[in-house]
Amino acid sequence: TVTLDNLRKEFDNGRIVAVDGVSLDVEDGEFVTVVGPSGCGKSTTLRMLAGLESPTSGTIEIDGEDVTDVHARRRDVAMVFQNYALYPHKTVRQNMAFGLRMSTDLSKAEREERVRETAEMMDIEELLNDRPNELSGGQKQRVALGRAIVREPNVFLFDEPLSNLDAKLRTTMRTEIQRLQNELDITAIYVTHDQEEAMTMGDRIAILNDGVLQQTGAPTEVYRNPRNEFVGGFVGSPS
Ligand code: ATP
Ligand code: MG
Repeated sequence: TVTLDNLRKEFDNGRIVAVDGVSLDVEDGEFVTVVGPSGCGKSTTLRMLAGLESPTSGTIEIDGEDVTDVHARRRDVAMVFQNYALYPHKTVRQNMAFGLRMSTDLSKAEREERVRETAEMMDIEELLNDRPNELSGGQKQRVALGRAIVREPNVFLFDEPLSNLDAKLRTTMRTEIQRLQNELDITAIYVTHDQEEAMTMGDRIAILNDGVLQQTGAPTEVYRNPRNEFVGGFVGSPS
């Protein structure tokens, strides 16, 4: 379970309020999609969850533990970025093993086994010795997903993971993520620009505007009963 309580993030001495009092619960096995216009605070929210940015105020709990001040490496979360964020000088194998080494106390042999299993699951075994610049966009995204999965985190954070892919690959990768959703029953917060993606992938959808959470609920429920005009416009409700 993830609990965000009144999370706030200011930049530039308060001149920018990127996230303005967001409270959200995500249950185990739940897949929550987050949508909202550019600059509304989606990435900042995820970055605070991942420990890459510290909140100005508010708290973050993961499985009942207050992790607000816990270092990113000690948090049981894995983030998948829009631009993949792979280490360019490391091979695929090293990229995948690196996160494992930082976050678990498995033996070397156990780590290698986990990398091998995950590579098989993501169909990237043939790429293990390649470096990121030798890979296509879709392959990079598979590796980025694999690097997150291999850690078996309690929570997955996705920041527009498909937006750099062409339409065909996007469909393939979406199916891949939905397979993870079904087979591994992952807990995830999934940020996207794509309203259709948000509506079809989310158990629940959260709509953010100007750092403020406008509404959360099952996609059909939000579609039928948008709380305000902004939400209705965003999810395409009939007016
Ligand atoms: P997009 O859909 O374009 O990715 P977003 O919803 O992810 O947008 P954020 O990146 O969270 O938006 O940014 C929210 C606000 O905070 C924006 O106004 C942005 O300019 C500002 N912001 C984000 N990071 C910083 C920073 N490091 N310093 C100053 N302002 C920042
Ligand atoms: Mg963003």
